[in-house]
Amino acid sequence: MPTLDLKRKLAILSDAAKYDASCASSAGVKRDSRGGKGVGSTDGGMGICHAYAPDGRCISLLKILLTNFCVYDCAYCVNRVSSNVTRARFSVKEVCDLTLGFYKRNYIEGLFLSSGIIRSADYTMEEMVRVARELREVHDFRGYIHLKLIPEASPALVNQAALYADRVSINIELPRDESLTRLAPDKDIGGIKKAMGAVRLGVEAGQEKGRKARPAKFAPAGQSTQMIVGTDAASDGEILKRSESLYGAYHLKRVYYSAFSPIPDSAARLPLARPPLVREHRLYQADWLMRFYGFARVEIVGEAEDLDLDIDPKLAWALRNRGDFPVDLNTAEREPMLRVPGLGVRSVDRMLGVRRIKALRLEDVRRISRRIDKLKPFIVTADWTPGPLTDSADLRARLTPAASQMSLF
Ligand code: SF4
Repeated sequence: MPTLDLKRKLAILSDAAKYDASCASSAGVKRDSRGGKGVGSTDGGMGICHAYAPDGRCISLLKILLTNFCVYDCAYCVNRVSSNVTRARFSVKEVCDLTLGFYKRNYIEGLFLSSGIIRSADYTMEEMVRVARELREVHDFRGYIHLKLIPEASPALVNQAALYADRVSINIELPRDESLTRLAPDKDIGGIKKAMGAVRLGVEAGQEKGRKARPAKFAPAGQSTQMIVGTDAASDGEILKRSESLYGAYHLKRVYYSAFSPIPDSAARLPLARPPLVREHRLYQADWLMRFYGFARVEIVGEAEDLDLDIDPKLAWALRNRGDFPVDLNTAEREPMLRVPGLGVRSVDRMLGVRRIKALRLEDVRRISRRIDKLKPFIVTADWTPGPLTDSADLRARLTPAASQMSLF
């Protein structure tokens, strides 16, 4: 194999990492290098290597694979052993040098490191732990580190990884267990869940209050996972049901949804086209409703159903439940206000503050939420009541955004 220079390796291994969505750096603990100690901080930062979290937050991470060699043969993955792609591998020192170099140039706020499986799960996990250990202990790196865990690796190595990383993630990969068995024969869903359970226990032990000897920080920003959407026939209801159970069982910080991308030379059992990107977007919106707006999955979508692609899931719910509207913004509790389509958590909290001083009028709502047309059929204010508008037959049509012609290029 020809020797690749560092730049070429970086091109290959950052491109190979682009399929992994689970790398937002939210919820990291605060660390910095003020006083001349250490390198880096987790307090935001400007960079040129941008990724966008689904909530719109801009983050900058060096997102790479340690290697795209892999002994596994997951049908949906471009790095699988049977794939004909150019392979590359970083040394531990190269990853550390790149991270520190990029950090010092203010390109990144941290490192997201994943890897194909080389030799064995333990060998690969050990190499990834070496990167994190060297950054933390040799270079006193205080920036953000997210490590992708290998569930088949020994618990001791997983444990070590979580002691150096801010966040760890283990990919659940697919919404259905049987799809994982069929498409990723080397992976074991039981092992994935067991590893997630162990991380949950470690995170909780690290956060326990009142312990005399508190254990070292264990993945203080918690764990996340990723599910590929559109590889199998799972409905949106099934996908969200799985997310709901993952949040409950393993206290995940996030489930990331990644629309399946057809890969070169893919197996005939995989779809030929990727699902529409808006499907991924609707799943994120529904996930948001479950985590921050008090919705249960069954309220959003039935298990065998898909989300409406034309309108957002909160509006779809409101149109199905018009009997719960209009909501009087001057007297309602916080929970029903959060269910008004177009009202976000921040707007609701601001309205609750304002209405302690004065009665909310339409103009106040417009100012706070920066939108009004979508809200008007669902709210009452001191100077507005929607009358028959809430139940009007053409409400859905009025509130459905106009379709726009997609560009061919
Ligand atoms: S383990 Fe599977 S998903 Fe991960 S890099 Fe290897 S082939 Fe791809």
